[in-house]
Amino acid sequence: MSPRVRFAPSPTGLLHVGNARTALVNCLYAKKNNGIFILRLDDTDAERGSETYAEGIHQDLKWLGIIHQEYYRQSDHLERYQNVINKLEQVGRLYPCYETPEELDFKRKRLLAQGRPPIYDRSSRNLSSEQMEKYMQENRKPHWRFFLNPGKITWDDLAHGPMEFDAEKLSDPILIREDGSPVYTLSSVVDDLDMKITHVIRGNDHISNTAIQIQLYEAIGGTPADLHFGHLPLIAGEQGESLSKRLGSISLQSLREEGIDPMAINSYLASLGTSNEVKASYYLEALVTDFDLKKFGQASPKFSLDVLWRLNEKLLHNMSFEMARPKLHALNLSHITESFWNAMRGNLKKIKDIGHYWSVCNESITPVIEDRPFILTAKSLLPDTPWDEFTWQKWTDALKEQTGRQGKELFRPLRLALTGEEHGPEMKKLLLAIGPEKTIERLSV
Ligand code: GLU
Repeated sequence: MSPRVRFAPSPTGLLHVGNARTALVNCLYAKKNNGIFILRLDDTDAERGSETYAEGIHQDLKWLGIIHQEYYRQSDHLERYQNVINKLEQVGRLYPCYETPEELDFKRKRLLAQGRPPIYDRSSRNLSSEQMEKYMQENRKPHWRFFLNPGKITWDDLAHGPMEFDAEKLSDPILIREDGSPVYTLSSVVDDLDMKITHVIRGNDHISNTAIQIQLYEAIGGTPADLHFGHLPLIAGEQGESLSKRLGSISLQSLREEGIDPMAINSYLASLGTSNEVKASYYLEALVTDFDLKKFGQASPKFSLDVLWRLNEKLLHNMSFEMARPKLHALNLSHITESFWNAMRGNLKKIKDIGHYWSVCNESITPVIEDRPFILTAKSLLPDTPWDEFTWQKWTDALKEQTGRQGKELFRPLRLALTGEEHGPEMKKLLLAIGPEKTIERLSV
């Protein structure tokens, strides 16, 4: 059977590169194995979730080229979750609990202080009917926990290999909140079963959820052997900090606004934390060949913006005009010609910079002239037209001979006069793009 995988973000914030990596890995897994990639919005948290974030997720994934074949929203499945809840209650796997968050916190701290693991003591299962009655009169609303059966929970992790948990060392998870709404742990398992998911690939932060979800999956009628799990170490920031702390700079939205090419992100994330070397690829399909979950290491890889920008440059430097055209169009730069693109791409850090270079070459600028006699000499030595790729060399050789200047002393005043700027693409290329007429005009001071 072909695999069915899903990316299941909660629309409670902006996606960052860590989320993008989970989406990408699932998408590549599906592509590599002729599977189906599903997008599911885990949007049952009405308080923290928002439509704006949901739209943001669609926009980000589309931008990355990570396209789903099926789409679901958990908020459409609330009735189904309720049915499952009723069934679990009937078979005695759910029990009401009345502890307040403060009481739970107190218990946890006490256990930790005694050097014991903070496992929930199931005291709500042993409430006397008087206590229960009292809570009801106080109008305390219960939350509900799933009763974990004792025994070992095992699975063969796609990335880690064999995993084993002892159910007695886990707390019975809360599945239903005080307001009656199901917690992600439950809704996710119900959907994984209903959507016939075969492989759940996500971050290491979900490992203990997996142990619980395997029991839950079975309790609601699934066969755990049908569902495979893979967990990858979470990506950290450059100092090893959690990515959510740096959301300002590593959200997909901000990287897009900064001018990063989506394939720089995909190329980087496909290799980050693996034994593959980082390669700049233009297509997702090109990343499929090297993709293998077994290649992911156990340590948390560190995400570097510098590496990302270097990949971005690499992509731009060899990008065909055909590929660049729609990107230029989206930036209102449709006027950039193929020859200008080919001349300048090797100097681009961000694609939008080419718009500025176009203006420098084709619109009026204010030449910066610091040494008038030198510029006039330069003007008098301009080679005859037509100009070609050797013109700059010829011109500066003649100027060097005449003035004895070399290096920065020779080149800087020419760049300032012709572009009005200290830095920019190679002068050899700029000179041709500016052309004889404008060059003479800029040197006529
Ligand atoms: N909504 C969950 C999250 O964003 C999904 C985790 C999973 O893949 O099951 O963490």
